[in-house]
Amino acid sequence: MRILVVEDEPKTSAYLKKGLEESGYEVDLAGDGVRGLQLAQEHNYDVIVLDVMLPMLDGFGVLQRLRKTKSTPVLFLTARDDVADRVHGLELGGDDYLAKPFAFVELLARVRTLARRGPPRESELIAVGDLEIDLIRRRVRRGTTRIDLTPREFSLLHLLARRQAEVLSRTQIASSVWDMNFDSDSNVVEVAIRRLRAKIDEGQPIRLIHTVRGVGYLLEPRSAN
Ligand code: CA
Repeated sequence: MRILVVEDEPKTSAYLKKGLEESGYEVDLAGDGVRGLQLAQEHNYDVIVLDVMLPMLDGFGVLQRLRKTKSTPVLFLTARDDVADRVHGLELGGDDYLAKPFAFVELLARVRTLARRGPPRESELIAVGDLEIDLIRRRVRRGTTRIDLTPREFSLLHLLARRQAEVLSRTQIASSVWDMNFDSDSNVVEVAIRRLRAKIDEGQPIRLIHTVRGVGYLLEPRSAN
């Protein structure tokens, strides 16, 4: 079992490494978010312990980027028992959280649970109606027809499908798919949606991508008429 600890406070990370190694885990350490993300993408860890307050790139930024390609279980550490932080972390795909300060035995219990559980199975394949998204091979099909998407279109579709039947605003989509915020008058999201829709929905009796005027977009099967 191999754990990645992303934590910038040397005392805390040394303490976690020692404790986890004594409990039989192999432990890698990263002292900032950029290094943490790099290690998380390069290796297949059983669990990642991810501090929220980190230099370079914070824990939320790491989690958001990591979830585009990997479903490694993430236990994130919040500075205090802050409800907003906790909710945000779970929304971004964190699996569990622990507020600082915490007792090591509690962290160990959470890590063990996540390691046992492994990455969720459904995250390998998402199906909406006859649309199938294979997250491992990054392939998309509708019925028996294979659909070729650009990496950006794939990320966009993945986001909509992960949150299916939920209306996502342009801002949410922009920050999640492009890692940035666009000016409100930018039409980059609209353009991307239009292209994706042409590939996914054109000529189909059941439409999947819908516009909710003035609010955003959602994905769910609805009859074309
Ligand atoms: Ca920190």
